[in-house]
Amino acid sequence: MQVTEHIDAAKSSLFSFEILPPLKGKSIQSIYDGIDPLMEFEPKFVNVTYHREEYLYKEKGNGLLEKVSIRKRPGTVGICAAIMNKYNVDAVPHLICGGFSKEETENALIDLQFLGIDNVLALRGDPIKTESSFRPDPNGHSYAVELIQQISNMNEGEYMMDDIKLEPTNFCIGAAGYPEKHFEAMNLQTDLLRLKRKVDAGASYVVTQMFFDNKKYFDFVKSCRNIGIKVPIIPGLKPIRTLNHISFLPKFFHIDYPEELSTELLKCKSNSDVEELGIEWSIQQSKELVKEGAPCIHYYTMSNSDAVKSIASQIF
Ligand code: FAD
Repeated sequence: MQVTEHIDAAKSSLFSFEILPPLKGKSIQSIYDGIDPLMEFEPKFVNVTYHREEYLYKEKGNGLLEKVSIRKRPGTVGICAAIMNKYNVDAVPHLICGGFSKEETENALIDLQFLGIDNVLALRGDPIKTESSFRPDPNGHSYAVELIQQISNMNEGEYMMDDIKLEPTNFCIGAAGYPEKHFEAMNLQTDLLRLKRKVDAGASYVVTQMFFDNKKYFDFVKSCRNIGIKVPIIPGLKPIRTLNHISFLPKFFHIDYPEELSTELLKCKSNSDVEELGIEWSIQQSKELVKEGAPCIHYYTMSNSDAVKSIASQIF
């Protein structure tokens, strides 16, 4: 089923979550161990992130360095198929522009269609860790809007082959939104207009970057509605769990903590202090979002489902 069909059929806010493929060499059991505790809350869909290659420099023994490419977390599509098979729940693979030519994207989408995967979260992807800015594949897409357009074209039966109409695909396309602005955007307004273009190109729902201040989400939804973005906007929440997260999350995801939260975080002495506060904060955020009618609450588990379980048990 499509994500939007789940949302349309729901009587109250849905529960969904996002997982990362395990590090290369770990078994699928590590994925199941993370999902099993959350199934009692009846997620309607589970997202699986996509991780592109990284470059490492290996010593060659003669004083020279060799640049090698490695994908540390492969397996997004296989995990989606395994989840759907084991749990009978929809899986949403993330598909990125980075590292894909348009033809490789088309072929990846054909694989998804054959596997019965109806949903895709279409993203540009971040720059490779060792590169300062995003570089598209020479035959690929520079922005998510172009990827979304390609998927929409396939939904119309327009593949890359000239002139021939083929069997249309039927993907429900999600796009990313940033209540606190994407870090490269000139300002929130230009970023919102870019989001509108993604929706106009065929995205039928939006999932937000994590935020810790609900007001930012509510303002974002209002601004989206004001410029004609009418699709469901799913809030993304992440419980802070460790002392390291306190500085890592703002740095990596370009988000702020509201003052009330930062004041409390400063008092934390251990990971368990942070986790307790993070869970409680997320529960309060979730309660308000549900009360205000958010279509779904999407939790970033980042490979740890314990905190999300504690939150979900209070909300769903
Ligand atoms: P875009 O929508 O293309 O926007 C990127 C930037 O370009 C924005 O600043 C936008 O304002 C600007 N822009 C857009 N169009 C134009 C244009 N035509 N001209 C000039 N500027 C333009 N990354 C991964 O690698 N794997 C994942 O699995 C993953 N999952 C994610 C899930 C969610 C819910 C979110 C919010 C993010 C996720 N990301 C993931 C991170 C994402 O790939 C990065 O934030 C990336 O930098 C931007 O992706 P996007 O799809 O929002 O890009």
